[in-house]
Amino acid sequence: MPKTYDAIVVGSGMTGGWAAKELTEAGLNTLVLEAGRMVTTADYVEHVPPWQVKFRGLDDRRTRSADQPIQRECYACDEWSSKFFVNDHENPYTTPPDKPFLFLRGRQVGGRSIMWGRQVYRWSDLDFEANLRDGIAVDWPIRYADIAPWYDHVERFVGVSGEKLGLPQLPDGQFQPPMALNCGETMVRDAIAKQWPGERVVTVGRCAILTESLNGRAACHYCGYCERGCITRSYFSSINATLPVAQATGRMTLRPHSVVHSLIYDRDRRRIGGVRVIDGETKHAIEFRGRLEFLCASTLESARILLNSATREFPTGLANSSGELGHNLMDHIMGGGANGKIDAPADKNPVGRRPNGIYLPRFRNLQGGPKSPFLRGYAYQGGAGREGWGRGTDLPGFGADWKHALRDPGSWGFGFYGFGECLPNHDNYVEIDKDTKDAWGIPALRIHCVYGDNEWALMKDASISAAEMLAAAGARDITPFVDHNPPGKAIHEMGTARMGRDPKTSVLNAHNQAHDIPNLFVTDGACMASTANQNPSITYMALTARACDYAVGAMKRREI
Ligand SMILES: Cc1cc2nc3c(=O)[nH]c(=O)nc-3n(C[C@H](O)[C@H](O)[C@H](O)COP(=O)(O)OP(=O)(O)OC[C@H]3O[C@@H](n4cnc5c(N)ncnc54)[C@H](O)[C@@H]3O)c2cc1C
Ligand code: SF4
Repeated sequence: MPKTYDAIVVGSGMTGGWAAKELTEAGLNTLVLEAGRMVTTADYVEHVPPWQVKFRGLDDRRTRSADQPIQRECYACDEWSSKFFVNDHENPYTTPPDKPFLFLRGRQVGGRSIMWGRQVYRWSDLDFEANLRDGIAVDWPIRYADIAPWYDHVERFVGVSGEKLGLPQLPDGQFQPPMALNCGETMVRDAIAKQWPGERVVTVGRCAILTESLNGRAACHYCGYCERGCITRSYFSSINATLPVAQATGRMTLRPHSVVHSLIYDRDRRRIGGVRVIDGETKHAIEFRGRLEFLCASTLESARILLNSATREFPTGLANSSGELGHNLMDHIMGGGANGKIDAPADKNPVGRRPNGIYLPRFRNLQGGPKSPFLRGYAYQGGAGREGWGRGTDLPGFGADWKHALRDPGSWGFGFYGFGECLPNHDNYVEIDKDTKDAWGIPALRIHCVYGDNEWALMKDASISAAEMLAAAGARDITPFVDHNPPGKAIHEMGTARMGRDPKTSVLNAHNQAHDIPNLFVTDGACMASTANQNPSITYMALTARACDYAVGAMKRREI
């Protein structure tokens, strides 16, 4: 008889790490099943300079386009970090030809928490009430007051640096001291504050990077290439923070190379009894038993596992009595913005490589404010910098004079890059493509997802507003743009097993527990009923910690 664990967590990325930490700290013997290889701090390469890598940082483009034609679309998949992204041939998916979707994935212990951009923003009731207010999709079953203590809990452990602003649409949190704006950013901030007082606020990004040491993790030293790892564990990832704590309890069994095929439904008990796994190295099938199942494999992979777990009782996918499993896929739309040259002091330069930019929170369609001709809103990331060496290819000339000219840091520029909310839409969905299997023989996904008119209207407005703000800051050569990025590119995919109050229209309840199966919890982005415009991972983490607390209580009360 195989051992029965108190809990099984599928995935060891951002949310799986949190589930492992919270469940083991609560006393549960927890098995963490991770499809990919083990990664430790020995894999980190953020201090390796370009002259020590084979292609001097220009990358082996032939291999990359052969093995990772999708993943290379991500800015972070370069000569150093491509090892943290999946091989696209081993991990296929399909789309209709007119609906491209970029499925950007990490498949290793730590998941995408290794390469993420670390931007973390709380949601507010403007977001949790949005579906109800607009009569779109389903109402969130929680409000800000339900999640606020869990944001506190998570932020204290993660270590979030940021500035308190007192804005109702972007609640303040448990912050370490903020990183500093540079003089170009301060200039633009002041000009915008003068033109739109109280309405448009430039601040430094709130990010999961330490500005003060915390729990044995050192403050950041601004080396700047976080997507390659961090030996001082200054930014938050599962490897840097949650998994070591879970390991230290002595109650975590972490099993890499464990590709979960499907969940085993016990029809007599109406519970999940365990999971079917394909060993990533031997390709043998194995089973593991657990009393509690936490799916944390990421929005699309968790949906895939549930769809591949169909039974006689749930013929269209496990826990899918609502018919909503796989539906309502969303990803932030990004890429409406503007660039321009600014007159910041020519004798000043940014110092170090601050791994962070500016943030300008949402200012459209706020409660009690003017209404725009579109729903919801957008926020900007971006920042100011000098042109630097990168302009070498555009600089005319040659020889010694040209090299000397390159020593000049160049002019100051400023860029705004918008991230907008994506509305939930039942017609954006994933299904199993029975004709396509991954390298482990598991049926792959077929993804159907397009942005609608509202998303594009947001980006158009983001482009115009960005140009307007640069003009107010006295910028020159202003270039507004709207990038036509396909869904998936923002890497904030959400919504394939949404939370809701009604089991007829949602997959999960207010505690991320499947309406249909009490010992099944899904706490990654699959649970989201809308996207807001803020980067979502801190909300996934807070929901995961909250769900763990609820699940442990329910186990103690013998409800599970
Ligand atoms: C370059 C980049 C920048 C980003 N920037 C930001 C940002 O600034 N802010 C923000 O909020 N978010 C950002 N994100 C998104 C963020 O990384 C994700 O939202 C977050 O990692 C999702 O957490 P997760 O636990 O759901 O998935 P992941 O972190 O991807 O972890 C999922 C894990 O599950 C494993 N897994 C998958 N399928 C199986 C299976 N069948 N069996 C076993 N294991 C499985 C995977 O191998 C992986 O380790 C960024 C992502 C990238 C790549
Ligand atoms: S910039 Fe800071 S957080 Fe990023 S890798 Fe370097 S020390 Fe770590």
